[in-house]
Amino acid sequence: MAASTTEALDRLLPGRVVTDPDVAAGYAVDAYPQAAAAPGSTFTVVRARSRADVQVVLRYAAQHRVPVVPQGARTSTTGAAGALPGSVVLSTEQMTSVRIDPVERLAVVGPGVLNADLKAAAAEHGLAYPPDPASSSMCSIGGNVATNAGGLCCVKYGVTADYVRGLEVVLPGGEVMRTGRRTAKGVAGYDLTGLFVGSEGTLGVVTEAVLRLVPLGDPPLTVLAVFPSLAATMAGVTALRESRHTPSLVELLDGPSVDAVQDYGDYGFPRGSGGVLLVQSDRPGHAAEDVEAYAAALTAAGAAEVAVAEDRTEADLLLEGRRVLNPALQARGPRFIEDVCVPVGRLGELVAQVHVIAERHGLEATCSGHAGDGNLHPCFFYDADERASLAAARRAFDDVVRAAWALGGTLTGEHGVGAQKAPWLREELGEAELARQLAVKAVFDPLGIMNPGRVYG
Ligand SMILES: Cc1cc2nc3c(=O)[nH]c(=O)nc-3n(C[C@H](O)[C@H](O)[C@H](O)COP(=O)(O)OP(=O)(O)OC[C@H]3O[C@@H](n4cnc5c(N)ncnc54)[C@H](O)[C@@H]3O)c2cc1C
Repeated sequence: MAASTTEALDRLLPGRVVTDPDVAAGYAVDAYPQAAAAPGSTFTVVRARSRADVQVVLRYAAQHRVPVVPQGARTSTTGAAGALPGSVVLSTEQMTSVRIDPVERLAVVGPGVLNADLKAAAAEHGLAYPPDPASSSMCSIGGNVATNAGGLCCVKYGVTADYVRGLEVVLPGGEVMRTGRRTAKGVAGYDLTGLFVGSEGTLGVVTEAVLRLVPLGDPPLTVLAVFPSLAATMAGVTALRESRHTPSLVELLDGPSVDAVQDYGDYGFPRGSGGVLLVQSDRPGHAAEDVEAYAAALTAAGAAEVAVAEDRTEADLLLEGRRVLNPALQARGPRFIEDVCVPVGRLGELVAQVHVIAERHGLEATCSGHAGDGNLHPCFFYDADERASLAAARRAFDDVVRAAWALGGTLTGEHGVGAQKAPWLREELGEAELARQLAVKAVFDPLGIMNPGRVYG
């Protein structure tokens, strides 16, 4: 730990600073597959309990020019939340207040509330908070806001940005800023809430979020469709686009992803397929009718096998197979995991190109993702003991970003840029746009102490 900063903050905020090095080490890295604490790096961990605590830290950081890493639940897959050498890691995990206003259909929450806990609190009032990252049970609202998290149900309900009405943010130096509104409508001035959503801790620390809720849908029903080939699987995705009622979830696992899940545990998926689609409807009063229609459309598109989950328990089991995908891939070994997004109609071309890219570099790959949004998570496995294998995986990663760009897509759909994708940001934005974005950052963070090196490199 950086002794002088740790001691100074411990005096200013007794009980909030982690003084046990073993406990502090737990805050060093996030879920970025290549995450590693810098050798010999020193950092200070503060577990804030209130806005006032955050103000104290950001005042100190500005006075002493200390970098600050805002941290939620450390599930970032892009290296956005790990400790930086000499930094203060400012954890908001203990800021877990939740207030639900059922009349206005709003939740006012602390940044440390877990996504799944907010969903449960809203459900007690017959309401739902739809944004649903696969990490829902582990990730925090602060992290979701800072990454504009997406997830499984975006195809129907949109992403985090679609639910954030307003924010309370502490800026470097300790000033408190409130953005946005609580009303259903509002056009007073620039949308600074939108600016902070997805800013990955590079502008300030979110200390409260005002979030829109919606009426709770019916429990979703699920269709599992198994296809003999990748081409047929993608034809299934296209067929669903012709449906009049948008499914509440369209998830893709290609054959190797299905096999990886089954290697991890028996989730009832068939091995050796060309691909699997999981499709859901939660349309009040019509879910059963919808899943029958989706099943027929998927069969017509070439599915070899279609099963409709009869009840919630069966549906949950199928979804569990999708939710464990990340640990299942992790269990297979070292990997690079991508997060590109292309127009939905071009997704099939991207999946095909990923497998060509993998073959060209002599690697194994899996493709999975939120097919209804064109958001793909290709994954390349490499041998960590072989330099050449690691280099090949890096080149394959770069090829995928370029393939996505060529198809009209973007280098990240939902995981953000973090440290991982910073090298590509300049190319995607262009020099002029990058300069404008850095000028905006300087308005809020003139000293450049907020999560430096992340996003902008
Ligand atoms: C198994 C698994 C599945 C996943 N599935 C999805 C998915 O389906 N969709 C998806 O979008 N993502 C997914 N992710 C990625 C990750 O869960 C999300 O990016 C999530 O939003 C991060 O939340 P967190 O609380 O863990 O934030 P952290 O990882 O702690 O931080 C993420 C970023 O937010 C910033 N931050 C955190 N709190 C604050 C705050 N209070 N103020 C300002 N900045 C803050 C950090 O500085 C960092 O830049 C997955 C990750 C895993 C491990």
